[in-house]
Amino acid sequence: MRNLIILAILIGLLHACNISSNLSSKKNTITFANNEVVAHRGAWKTKGLPQNSIASLKNAIDLNCTGSEFDVRMTADDVLIVTHDGDYHELIIEESTYAELAKFQLPNGEKLPTLKDYLIAGMTENDSTGLVCEIKPSQEEGRNIKIANKVMALVEDLNAENYISYYISFSYEILKKIREINPLAKTLYLDGSKKPEALKFDGITGLDYHFSEFKNHPDWIKKSKDYGLILNAWTANETEDIDWLLANGFDLITTDNPELVFERIKESPTSQDWKLVWSDEFNYSGKPDSTKWGYSYGFLSNREEQYYTDNLNNARVENGLLTIETRKEKIVNAQYKSDEFKNKSWLKYIAAIDTAKYTSARLTTAGLASWKYARIEVKAKLPRGVGLWPAIWMLGENRKEVGWPKCGEIDIMEHVGFNPDSIFGTIHTEAYNHMKKTEKGKSIYIEKPYDNYHVFALEWTPEKMDFILDGVVYNHIKNEHKTVAEWPFDQKFYLILNVAVGGMLGGQKGIADDIFPNQMMIDYVRVYQK
Ligand code: MG
Repeated sequence: MRNLIILAILIGLLHACNISSNLSSKKNTITFANNEVVAHRGAWKTKGLPQNSIASLKNAIDLNCTGSEFDVRMTADDVLIVTHDGDYHELIIEESTYAELAKFQLPNGEKLPTLKDYLIAGMTENDSTGLVCEIKPSQEEGRNIKIANKVMALVEDLNAENYISYYISFSYEILKKIREINPLAKTLYLDGSKKPEALKFDGITGLDYHFSEFKNHPDWIKKSKDYGLILNAWTANETEDIDWLLANGFDLITTDNPELVFERIKESPTSQDWKLVWSDEFNYSGKPDSTKWGYSYGFLSNREEQYYTDNLNNARVENGLLTIETRKEKIVNAQYKSDEFKNKSWLKYIAAIDTAKYTSARLTTAGLASWKYARIEVKAKLPRGVGLWPAIWMLGENRKEVGWPKCGEIDIMEHVGFNPDSIFGTIHTEAYNHMKKTEKGKSIYIEKPYDNYHVFALEWTPEKMDFILDGVVYNHIKNEHKTVAEWPFDQKFYLILNVAVGGMLGGQKGIADDIFPNQMMIDYVRVYQK
């Protein structure tokens, strides 16, 4: 019997040695997968696994996520466990022993994982996925430091340092303690209350804030990059938010939906090396940002009947959207009898109108921003009604010197109210333009342009221009490498957003008078360059 016991102890010791030598030999062997995806409490959703279970961690590893997040708490008898809430099966964790808590299994039959179990699982058959360790703050005075000390001691005991990608916490005290214990440990702060400069000053590695914090403080994104801070956002589960984070070059995206984030990465321009260089997400209210947008005023051309203003009624930002509103309202024409127009044969009609009947807005980046070669994306919902002519388009920066059409025009999206099912993507140049009926344009069917948002995009390189509706290229124009008469597109162009009323194109079937006021809604404008 005694021999058996000794044998059992020996086997136990050997086994323990084996585990620890396995673990120590694994040190330095992991390279985290090269993607942005951090599974929030493991990857549990698709397979219906419990959050913070070892099964959900393993699933995150199988999915090749760069990180898998989990939550650490400490029981009354100082056992570190992995679970989210402060209570478990109606027992307060900090007031209950591990034995009391562990009577209740997870819904998949797993034992309530200790941090030790969890780390060992994360160090086994894993060559992709970093462990993102969230330490939950304690309710009890002084206990935060104790938890931080114990977590760090366990990680050291298990030689698990290289498997931990980051420590995260809502407690600044905990993060600072971690830095003190191991200055090489990476720490991300979860509470959105601190500015990037404060984190940098305190030696915190980065920000892991709710994505809305970054939408409210878009300048934090650039600042964080400038300071070399890691940018992480939680918890992005919707396509729209994920796309926004990818566009803005976040290092990490914490999600309940890793599969969706992987899908969106494939679709994102950033995966083809496009970098966001300019954008307006319209996450503010009032007039459009004057550092990004200027206005056109009055009547312009094409015998259009709208009078452009900078009134809030005609262009405003609210609820995350830019609205361009056409209105039926009388406004005195400041260009009436103006010498500027009286003597120009094609514009003298402007000098003859004393009062305009409609108002609208035309926003332009002219003089503020322009680009040579770019991918431009505008997500918008179009205005409905016969007589309206909304457009998202560009003009060459040399227009004042050489005039139209020599300067070139790129119509990323044109739509006319009398043809509700189509949009057009077109270029005009000296050789190809609508005066000669040689412009290069194509149309595409568009579903519910007045009820749904669509993404209108242009991908413009030295070799080609692609006009894209919701990811589908419908007009592809090649650079023929002839002269600037065919291809004036090796220069900077600025962007214009407007809704015209009537005019030579929009007014061909008249203007329905019962459609006003009427709005084009723009969710974002994003400009990428290589
Ligand atoms: Mg968490």
